[in-house]
Amino acid sequence: MRAAVVHDFDKPLSLDERPVPEPGAGQVLVRLETSGLCHTDMHAAHGDWPVKPTLPLIPGHEGVGIVERLGPDATGVSEGDRVAIPWLGWACGTCEHCLSGWETLCPNQRNTGYSVDGCYAEYAVASAPFVGRVPDGVDPLDAAPLACAGVTTYKAVKVAGVRPTDLVAVFGVGGLGHLAVQYAAIAGATVVAVDVHDEKLALARDLGASHTVNARVVDPVEAIQQLGGADAAIALAAEPEPFAQAFRSLRRGGRLVFVALPKDNELSLPIFETVLGGITVAGSIVGTRLDLAEVYELHRDGRTRVVRETRRLEQVNDAFAEVEKGAVPARLVFDLR
Ligand code: ZN
Ligand code: ZN
Repeated sequence: MRAAVVHDFDKPLSLDERPVPEPGAGQVLVRLETSGLCHTDMHAAHGDWPVKPTLPLIPGHEGVGIVERLGPDATGVSEGDRVAIPWLGWACGTCEHCLSGWETLCPNQRNTGYSVDGCYAEYAVASAPFVGRVPDGVDPLDAAPLACAGVTTYKAVKVAGVRPTDLVAVFGVGGLGHLAVQYAAIAGATVVAVDVHDEKLALARDLGASHTVNARVVDPVEAIQQLGGADAAIALAAEPEPFAQAFRSLRRGGRLVFVALPKDNELSLPIFETVLGGITVAGSIVGTRLDLAEVYELHRDGRTRVVRETRRLEQVNDAFAEVEKGAVPARLVFDLR
């Protein structure tokens, strides 16, 4: 099979010919149709984060395809099912986090396209209980970004405790942000979107944002405070400065949710204002299997729109460069068919 492989953190990915993997116990073999490009894949390929993946690595954790074969003892899915292979490739099922329905916090988890090979390939193996079922009628090109960008922002809106009277500020309108705007709007909130590209702000308005702020032109903190301050802010930009702006844009009692993982891992927040303002700061990482099922349900019912462009797997290095430049409208998806 063809696969895009990272051999060196300082070199481009190479297109390699690899044997089709064998599904082990409890696993399924998936013939991939589509595979989304998440910013995490670029961090994985560059070794940007404190915990680095072991090389060689096939990145990708927004894979969607058809179950071709079941390994021994694989249950819950059948040959021919369309499934998604998300970031949470496997969790132990027995730790306190798994038992409390927070399998995304499992300390024993395996992560697709990071600690195990992922979906920039024609085939991948995945743990049967951790694949997402893609409902009939959901386009595989839409299903791929929903497997990470969708579930991650859907969960962030839940973690932010968004209510219908809330003003929700979404910092960063890319692959994640364009979905965050929609989930916050579905929850009934008034949404203000912040970005530095006018076309992305126009997209945010199309998708339900009532207000937009171009942070290159206007101070987003002032603009959002003029609206009364945000009840919740969701930080999705891949640099620390918007995190600080998101904090200062909150009203008293506001909740700030960290989602993006900038390479630069430090942020300083004022203790005094946090205490007196009763501010909550929370981190939110991807979403559970239940969250993913809900994301697909909303999309099947026509309540969300995925903005994406397709590329071929051979274009992987150019695609990385495009995303790095911020030149893509929302999400890139490799069409592997
Ligand atoms: Zn991702
Ligand atoms: Zn666990």
